Amino acid sequence: MPMFDFVCTNCKHEFEALVRGSQAPTCPACQSTALEKQLSLPAIKTDATHGLAMQAAKRRDRSQGNERNAAQREYELNHDD
Ligand SMILES: [Zn+2]
Repeated sequence: MPMFDFVCTNCKHEFEALVRGSQAPTCPACQSTALEKQLSLPAIKTDATHGLAMQAAKRRDRSQGNERNAAQREYELNHDD
């Protein structure tokens, strides 16, 4: 399922949400729909990207800080589309 990181532009709350079709997610903190989609977590479309996303997620779980940027750079290097 496609999972995205969002930042609420209303209250700055950060959260992850599933996006299905044209359904727009809402901020769980203030119910605003004024959201910015973050690019840190890729959409899971294939087995290949699924594996990579799981690696990135595990890394992010270990360290919420610096390694998040490293994982994103690695993803971008491997996905040049
Ligand atoms: Zn909000």
